[in-house]
Amino acid sequence: MSMAVYNPFENARAQFDKVAEQLNLDSGTRELLRTPMKEFHFTIPVKMDNGSTKVFQAYRIKHNDALGPAKGGIRFHPHETADTVRALATWMTWKCAVVDIPLGGGKGGVVCNPPDLSQGEQERLCRGYIRRLFSQVGPNIDVPAPDVMSNAQHMLWMLDEYETIAGGHYPGVITGKPVGLGGSLGRTEATGYGVVYTLEALLKAKKLAPEATTASIQGFGNVAEYAARLYTEMGGKVIAVSCWNQAAQKAYTFKKSGGCNIEQLVSIKDSFGSIETEKAKALGYEVLDGDAWLTQEVDILIPAALENQITPAVFGKISKKVSVICEGANGPTTPDCDPLIAEAGISLIPDFLCNAGGVTCSYFEQVQCNMNYFWSKEEVLDKLKFTMNKAFDSVYELSLSQKLNMRDAAYQISIKRVANAVKLRGWVS
Ligand code: GLU
Repeated sequence: MSMAVYNPFENARAQFDKVAEQLNLDSGTRELLRTPMKEFHFTIPVKMDNGSTKVFQAYRIKHNDALGPAKGGIRFHPHETADTVRALATWMTWKCAVVDIPLGGGKGGVVCNPPDLSQGEQERLCRGYIRRLFSQVGPNIDVPAPDVMSNAQHMLWMLDEYETIAGGHYPGVITGKPVGLGGSLGRTEATGYGVVYTLEALLKAKKLAPEATTASIQGFGNVAEYAARLYTEMGGKVIAVSCWNQAAQKAYTFKKSGGCNIEQLVSIKDSFGSIETEKAKALGYEVLDGDAWLTQEVDILIPAALENQITPAVFGKISKKVSVICEGANGPTTPDCDPLIAEAGISLIPDFLCNAGGVTCSYFEQVQCNMNYFWSKEEVLDKLKFTMNKAFDSVYELSLSQKLNMRDAAYQISIKRVANAVKLRGWVS
């Protein structure tokens, strides 16, 4: 069988088209919402430490801002393309809409591999990104945040560059800032915790006790780490974690049948989520192939790395025990795999609902910056849980009452909200 090649933007459009049809959406709105509104493709020349200049390809794409300023991360990845950013920007629109926050969808990307860059090179890249894009981002225009391989320090360099050019303080221009410099407590944990809040709600609906479940996770970056921590705190057992190894340029799965000790794994990973194989072996972990996370006999799979991981080609390898998939990553399941997942009776919490905790906390960060008054971590996480639970309940109830899978139900809710906004604004008749 030849391996299908998946394009995330085609996937995002296929998901949208299917639900636009279910909703009988008019052709003007369909055309408008299946295409990003604005795209910026630009280059960033960076002076490297060795004196040479390297030119990086970068993107910022605004999918839709009918509900509010565009919002979404900037991803640093060697395989970034215009189409991955288009897809991610589109998913941000649905993500903000499903949790009902007054923001639109945008995303950025730079083709680069941060572990290969020194701190100084990373700083110049971040500042260069903002210099190129200055007039197109802003608290009321488009607000970036961290994503794959970008972090609070990168956000602060970007903020500082923006404020230096603008000649004033504009904390609302970017979220995911360090705490004490306009960041919100809980933002680091928010995406991973949000994944587990939706999982907890689903397990409750399915009358399953978290303590009686096991999980396998793909990824060990920010999302996976905090999802693993909270799931373990709830009594669940993480059997395996898979992550990219920078030195070997391949992924490995780290397994402990009795349950991984998350703190221990965190202590032997680098800031990009790579776990050191030798140290893991010494701590008693089995080190398996990168895709072994998918074949574990567990109840829950949490893909929390990149897109296009769960496809029909690998679906047959998933254990019959799996009854829940939580999409911590954006776009980890291809549209042609959704019917197989439904047929197998697996409940899938779709990405733009499951991982909406990050952007929800970014919204709280904006609110706190606007007030210049910062909440306690407890207050932030309480509000986060409330918002995630509310969104989950609406999606779950619609999926039951209309006999839809949760992805289609979430799309119906989001598309209706955005379609209503573009109609009221008079963008379509
Ligand atoms: N990058 C995160 C996401 O994909 C967060 C975006 C944000 O906080 O704006 O949802």
